[in-house]
Amino acid sequence: MDNFDYDLFVIGAGSGGVRAARMAAGFGARVAVAEDRYMGGTCVNVGCVPKKLYVYASEFSKSFSDARNFGWDSTRPAFDWATLRDNKKNEISRLNAIYNRLLDGVKADVIDGRARIVDAHTVAVGERVFTADKILIATGGWPYIPEFPGSEYAITSNEIFDLEAFPRRLVIVGGGYIAVEFAGIFNGLGSQVTQLYRGPLFLRGFDADIRAHAAREIAKTGVDLRFELNVEAIEPAAGGLRLQLSDGSTLEADVVLYATGRKPNLQGLGLENVNVATSEFGTIEVDEEYRTSEPSIFALGDVTGGMELTPVALAEGMAFARRQFGEPAGAVDYDFIPTAVFCQPNIGTVGFTEEQARAKFGHIRLFKSTFKPMKHTISGRDEQTFMKLIVDKASDRVVGVHMMGPDAGEIMQGIAIALRAGATKALFDTTIGIHPTAAEEFVTMREPWTED
Ligand code: FAD
Ligand code: NDP
Repeated sequence: MDNFDYDLFVIGAGSGGVRAARMAAGFGARVAVAEDRYMGGTCVNVGCVPKKLYVYASEFSKSFSDARNFGWDSTRPAFDWATLRDNKKNEISRLNAIYNRLLDGVKADVIDGRARIVDAHTVAVGERVFTADKILIATGGWPYIPEFPGSEYAITSNEIFDLEAFPRRLVIVGGGYIAVEFAGIFNGLGSQVTQLYRGPLFLRGFDADIRAHAAREIAKTGVDLRFELNVEAIEPAAGGLRLQLSDGSTLEADVVLYATGRKPNLQGLGLENVNVATSEFGTIEVDEEYRTSEPSIFALGDVTGGMELTPVALAEGMAFARRQFGEPAGAVDYDFIPTAVFCQPNIGTVGFTEEQARAKFGHIRLFKSTFKPMKHTISGRDEQTFMKLIVDKASDRVVGVHMMGPDAGEIMQGIAIALRAGATKALFDTTIGIHPTAAEEFVTMREPWTED
C-alpha cells in the first residue's frame, strides 16, 4: 500500500463518492477525490436539492387560492423567477462549500478536474498523475436526449434550473420521475405545461392504480398531459420553437425539456485502459463488494445502474468504505427501498406493485382508499388522495404500500421501516392512528378491496 500516493482515489464528488471518501478517510485511509464540475454531484447541484426547493416555490400558488375559503382575503401575489433562481444558486453555493469542508475535515485531498484512468492503479487529472491502491468510480449519470431533427434545441434537467427567462410555454417529453416532477413545478409557477409521453400511461414501473390516479390528478391541476405521442422534429419559430408531433400536429413552446432518462457518465474516463466490464446499457458491472472485473477498481451509485437514488448511492458508499477500510460489514440490503415522486401531490411508494406481488406471492389481499383530504373540504380544491396496501395472503405480511396525496413522501419513510421489519396486516390493524391525519387511513383500512 505504501508505494502508492493514496490508499483510495475516488472519481466523482457526488452522493456516493463523497460518502465513501469521508468514511474511508475516517477509517484512516489516505484519500483523494477528483471532481470536474461541482462538489456534491447531481443531487446537490442539479437534482434532489434544487428540485425540492422549486417544488416548495411551486406549491405556494395553490396555497394562495386554498386560503380564500379559510377566510384570507388575498389576491394572488406575482411570481418572480429571478428571485427563486438566484436564491437557489446561493443555497447551492453554501452546500458546495460544506461539501468541501467535510472533505477537508477528514484530510481528503480534493483535486479539481476531470479524471482519466491510466492503468489499474493510476489516474491522471490534466497533467497530474496519481497512484492509488484502490480506485473508486462514482461518476454518476448524465441526461440523455434521443437524436432527431432539431434535438439540439431541447434542454435537459441540467439547464432547466438556471434558465435566463421564465418559460411561458413549456413542453416536457418523458413520463418518468423528472418529467412528472418538472411538469408540476412549472405548472405551479405559472407556465402553460404540456407533457408528452410515448406510451399509453406514464410512470412505468409504478403500481398501476397509482399511475392511473396520478394521470387523473395531474391533468386536473392544469398540465396538458398527452399520451402515445412523441416529438418528430423541433425547429425555431417566431418567438420560440415549433414541435412536429408524431400524430401530425404541431405545438409551440418557449422551452422544450427532455426528461428521457440518464446514461452512465463514462466519457473520457479511460475505461479502455483497464479491464472494467460494462453491461449492455453501458453501466459498470460490479459484484456485492462493488468490485469491477479489474480487482483494484470499484464502482457504485448511478454509474452502476440499479435504483438511481441518492440514499442508495450513500448506502453503497458507506458499505464500500466499511468493507475495504473499516470493520467487516455486510452488503447493502436492497429490499423495500422507499421512493417518492415529488409531483403535486406527492407519490410515495415502498415494496411490490400489485402486478409484482401477484407474480411473487400468488394470492394477495388488496386494500384501497380514495378520499378528499380534510383541508380541501373547505379550500374547495378538487384533489383526491389515494392509498393502497398489498398483503401476502399466506403470511399476512404487508408487501406493498402506495400513496398519492399530500406528504406521501414523508409518510412513506415510516411505513418502509414497518415493511422492512416484516409488519403484518394484523399489526397495522392494531396500531392506533394519529387523528386527524391522512396517514391514519393506513391503519384503519379494514375491508379488503378484493380477494383472490
Ligand atoms: P452523482 O451525484 O451524479 O455524482 C457524480 C459526480 O462525478 C458528479 O459531480 C460529476 O461531475 C463527477 N464526475 C463525473 N465524471 C468525472 C470524471 N471523469 N472526473 C471527475 N469527476 C467526474 N434522487 C433522490 O433520491 N431523490 C430525489 O428527489 C432526486 N431528484 C433528482 C432530480 C433530478 C433532476 C435528477 C437528475 C436526479 C435526482 N435524483 C434524486 C437522483 C440522484 O441525484 C442520484 O441518484 C445521485 O446523485 C447519484 O449519486 P452518484 O454519487 O452516483 O453520482
Ligand atoms: P426515467 O428513466 O425515470 O424516465 C425516462 C422517461 O423517458 C420514461 O418515461 C421513458 O419512457 C421516456 N423515454 C425514454 N427514451 C425515450 C425516447 N427516446 N423518446 C421518448 N421518451 C423516452 O428517467 P428520468 O430522466 O425521469 O430520471 C432519471 C432517474 O433519476 C430516475 O429513474 C430516478 O431514479 C432518478 N430521479 C429520482 C427522483 C426522486 O427520487 N424523486 C427525481 C428525479 C430523478 P418508457 O417508460 O416508455 O421507457
